Amino acid sequence: MKAELYIQAENDLGEGPLWDFKNNNLLWVDIEKKLLCISDIRKKDLLEVEFNSRLSAVALTTTANLYLLASETGIHLYDLKNRESKEIANPEKDIENNRFNDGKCDLAGRFWIGSMDMDVKSGAGSLYCLEGFNAPQRKLEHLTISNGMDWSLDKKQMYFIDTSDYEVTCFDYNVETGSICNPRRVITVPKKYGAPDGMCIDAEGMLWIAHWAGGNVSRWNPKDGKLLETVRVPAPHVTSCCFGGENLDILFITTARKGLNPQQLKDYPQSGGIFLVKPGVKGVKTNLFQIDFNRKANGSD
Ligand code: CA
Repeated sequence: MKAELYIQAENDLGEGPLWDFKNNNLLWVDIEKKLLCISDIRKKDLLEVEFNSRLSAVALTTTANLYLLASETGIHLYDLKNRESKEIANPEKDIENNRFNDGKCDLAGRFWIGSMDMDVKSGAGSLYCLEGFNAPQRKLEHLTISNGMDWSLDKKQMYFIDTSDYEVTCFDYNVETGSICNPRRVITVPKKYGAPDGMCIDAEGMLWIAHWAGGNVSRWNPKDGKLLETVRVPAPHVTSCCFGGENLDILFITTARKGLNPQQLKDYPQSGGIFLVKPGVKGVKTNLFQIDFNRKANGSD
């Protein structure tokens, strides 16, 4: 299979694709250009909202027009209509050279967000979990490039990638408490495929992994660690993927121009674009950040 260009966004570091099913939009960020990008896939348009710090992840919330954004300056609730943001947490404000990286909401509406050192210092990153407006909890430390994550369909496992490990780690996950334990390697990524970056799960419980410096997205069975499928992407630096579209049957893929030499940019001129493929399997619905988490946890919503 081969992915085709959806839109040439000319992203320096396109990342964090997210299907906004409430508005039929694809959202993503350009970390280096500090952009939130929004495209109505029926119109194939592109709205770019510029910020003054590097955004790395966006999430939907339980409130219309309100998004969760992770940036160098913390985690914010962002009102797209009024273009106003409000900081709700900043667990690494004292770690100067760190920034956030991939983040995603879990099945209970918690937001999980990893961090990394901007010069990729080994072990400088962590993984945090945010429940509503409570103080973020640090779930993992000594990470290098905290990256893709997702949760199994039976809500019992969390899958996680630290890119520097070239593997997918599986944790036992408790959806009620948000605890993770018992880490074990379930997928080993051969270096020739490229570094594992962003990841999402499909409706059959298989994992799709974007490969930085690999020019592909791959599909794996986390039960036996086997590679099932490869989608070629005409851009070497593939960063992340998510399912979207009205029927959740389109895999959207983000890419980067960052780190490519002039010859690579010439050979792969679509680098920095958003790509798509219809792989014949559907994704799962995007989880929302539960703003009123405690109320939700008490079962009143
Ligand atoms: Ca990433």
